[in-house]
Amino acid sequence: MNVSGHAAIVTGGASGMGAETAHALAVAGAKVTILDVNKEALDEVAKEIGGLAVECDVSSSESAQAAVAAARNAHGAARVLVNCAGIAPAKRIVGRDGPMPLEDFKKVIDVNLIGSFNVLRLVAADLYAEEPLDDVGERGVIVNTASVAAFEGQVGQAAYTASKGGLVALTIQAARDLSGKGIRVVTIAPGFIATPMLLGMPEETLFKIRRLPFAVPLTWDGNSSLAFLAPRGIRPVVGRVEH
Ligand code: NAD
Repeated sequence: MNVSGHAAIVTGGASGMGAETAHALAVAGAKVTILDVNKEALDEVAKEIGGLAVECDVSSSESAQAAVAAARNAHGAARVLVNCAGIAPAKRIVGRDGPMPLEDFKKVIDVNLIGSFNVLRLVAADLYAEEPLDDVGERGVIVNTASVAAFEGQVGQAAYTASKGGLVALTIQAARDLSGKGIRVVTIAPGFIATPMLLGMPEETLFKIRRLPFAVPLTWDGNSSLAFLAPRGIRPVVGRVEH
């Protein structure tokens, strides 16, 4: 899809991969709305890219509905959604203080899995009311952000890994539900990238990461998410998880 002139929403757009993706979309000519809980950083990124900042907790139905409506009012229905909002607090299943509090597990599922689904369902509903953009019938693209953790696990990341595994499973299901309406759903599963999320990990984890036999990229190239927007080969990518 050529995003130029089309509306796009990026969750978690105030930082790291979301901010870089928002930049890349703006450079490609999209009308970008970024959603995040971090109001200050959100406003800064929106100013840089000439986009719209909407404070939003993706895990809340009301907050996401209001944010998607604000984006629609400003730019029209989003043809592109990139779900980047996420959290990764480290905690072992059984730690020094006993079993991991259930609320801690739920919080991560709420933001990473339910939050992504929350915005996905709202953007998809808006797209149902839009005309296709081309003769193939494409109405829009939704890109979720899982993680290599969904396939490999990570010590102290049970909730995070489960949330990302849920996103991987959701990808093919959402593609099956929505592809009939010309909405592609795909997911990326990146390895380590030195964003504020990664750098906020405990020193013990960072120590292990620094010893990995490959370099951790210092920045995220937002174009990596955008690669999904263009059809590859004869058929566009649908329902796939790219590592
Ligand atoms: P980051 O911490 O830099 O950015 C995440 C953003 O999400 C932050 O701005 C944060 O405020 C926002 N956020 C958190 N909770 C929110 C909520 N409830 N509602 C709205 N926004 C919320 O992290 P990042 O590294 O850029 O991560 C982006 C995505 O990539 C995440 O889903 C993460 O799990 C995934 N990922 C990161 C790595 C990595 O190594 N950095 C690897 C694989 C996958």
